[in-house]
Amino acid sequence: MQHSDFDLATYLEDLQYLVNIDSGSYDTEGVAQVAEFFSQRFSALGWKVKLHQFDSSVGPCVEIVNGDQNQYDVLLMGHMDTVFKKGTTQERPFMIKDGKALGPGVNDMKAGLLQIYYTLRALHAENALVDASICIALNCDEEISSKYSRNWLETLAKKSRYVLVLEAARQDGNLVNKRKGVGRYTIDFTGIEAHSGVDHQSGKSAIEELAHWILALHEKTNYATGTTVNVGKVSGGSAVNVVAGQAKAEVDVRFYDLKEAEMIDQLIHSLAANPKVSGIKAVVSGGVTRPPMIPSEKTLMLCNAVEIIGSQVGIKVGWTATGGGSDGSFAAIMGVPTLDGLGPIGGGSHGPQEYLLIDSIEPRFCLLCEIVKYIVNQKSVIN
Ligand SMILES: [Zn+2]
Repeated sequence: MQHSDFDLATYLEDLQYLVNIDSGSYDTEGVAQVAEFFSQRFSALGWKVKLHQFDSSVGPCVEIVNGDQNQYDVLLMGHMDTVFKKGTTQERPFMIKDGKALGPGVNDMKAGLLQIYYTLRALHAENALVDASICIALNCDEEISSKYSRNWLETLAKKSRYVLVLEAARQDGNLVNKRKGVGRYTIDFTGIEAHSGVDHQSGKSAIEELAHWILALHEKTNYATGTTVNVGKVSGGSAVNVVAGQAKAEVDVRFYDLKEAEMIDQLIHSLAANPKVSGIKAVVSGGVTRPPMIPSEKTLMLCNAVEIIGSQVGIKVGWTATGGGSDGSFAAIMGVPTLDGLGPIGGGSHGPQEYLLIDSIEPRFCLLCEIVKYIVNQKSVIN
């Protein structure tokens, strides 16, 4: 169970290099630099690296395989993009403080990316992957709902027996086997402007219509089923003494049950077709961007195995269901057993408090090593 070649100091040097690259989703150069790091490292192991440029507005995606096979024992997934704008790494570069690594994207998810590489390199060196077929998918646009990489991720997941996602473990160390689906909508309202003092009756208020929508949508939140609807951003109007001719709302929907998402989708379209303020036009764009990730029977069997493996490497494995989306959903919805949260432990993602627990790096590396070995060795048993 010991992987004596793990060198934390070198890992942290690599992590510092990666964290100090600005790689926001539309930062094509930064994402390309992260892609280049992993391309070089895996090429040096003799693995095959392919870059995909799915759209010119985003960076490349990286596909890495260890052999010629077209079916994979396991697909390891991670995203190279962060939510941070260019210059954030200048403002608060990588640093280590009180046992934590800090910096933009350190937890979400540059540490996870690096863990994929360290794990596979160690297993490769041990000759543990000789009969294994491994694929790695590093995408460039997870933080913008994987809009360009989704098809590619699905194609690779379909060819894989298992999918492991290297998002960080929860702050309590738990892994993730269940996630909510995500829906996103933008609604543009158009009314008729009029002077609110002299000609109020000629106006049609886009803001008034928007207000009806907020109440109708928020009413659909149901904590018992895990469905939430949040009108998170609104804007509208041109001046206090003008009946508002324009308004806009952005809506976030989370759900475990796709039927609930369909019900809310129908509600949104029926609100658009039947405005409460007559004469208002509402234009809806958006829909479900990520399906929910629900553990199947096969996933639960893998969870069981991971708990046993955890106890062998000294980690008490627990599971969390989370409302946050990840690319694991695309694999899980196709019936491929998918686990997430396999990165080191951390928290505060998407904000300045983001951190990674340095103590968790090596234990989680060991856990992933053993999980990959288990999957590879169970080839004939589980199928
Ligand atoms: Zn992430």
